[in-house]
Amino acid sequence: MSQNPPFPDRAAELSLERAEAALARPPRLGVSACLLGHPTRYDGGHRRHEFIAGFLARRLELVPICPEMEAGLGAPRETMQLTGDPERPRLVTTETGLDRTELMERWARQRAREIEAEGLDGFILKGGSPSCGRQGVKVRLDSGEVVREGIGLFAKALGQRLPHLPVIEETALDDPGAWEEFIRRTGAGSAGNLGLKKQKGSIP
Ligand code: SF4
Repeated sequence: MSQNPPFPDRAAELSLERAEAALARPPRLGVSACLLGHPTRYDGGHRRHEFIAGFLARRLELVPICPEMEAGLGAPRETMQLTGDPERPRLVTTETGLDRTELMERWARQRAREIEAEGLDGFILKGGSPSCGRQGVKVRLDSGEVVREGIGLFAKALGQRLPHLPVIEETALDDPGAWEEFIRRTGAGSAGNLGLKKQKGSIP
């Protein structure tokens, strides 16, 4: 006859507690820091996005992350671009040709591991960036031609480490369907239930 163990399995109990806590709270999202108004861009400026930095920041826990600042490049800094093979591009400064690929790839792999441990529920990335852009980032081919076929090195590392993490670019927030799908995939329910419904054109 089977008997209940004399003591509850604490590990199982803890993981259940964590799962219940995750369901009970709104999503905790990583965000490219410049979208929250942090002065992290190459020129020391930002790209504050009102829907994210205003509306969402009052309702969700947002974790700002700037790959280029956290990798130690500082601001202001020289602009960078992806070059070479779009499948495996190099990250190179535009004026002096310094190759930052190894630095960024090493940092991004480590940061993606930390993000996994932190248990973020999703990530809003800045589109077009050679570090943060998740698709269609400009790549300068060896021929000099520029194609929009790249993925930013941080976005790539995030996708490799956490292939199921819901990710969206800020440009896609203009699409209420894409936003609703993103929030649903964070596991937090619907945008409507969370008071996060976004009507097209309602919030900048
Ligand atoms: S690396 Fe990403 S977070 Fe940092 S300034 Fe560029 S786009 Fe923004």
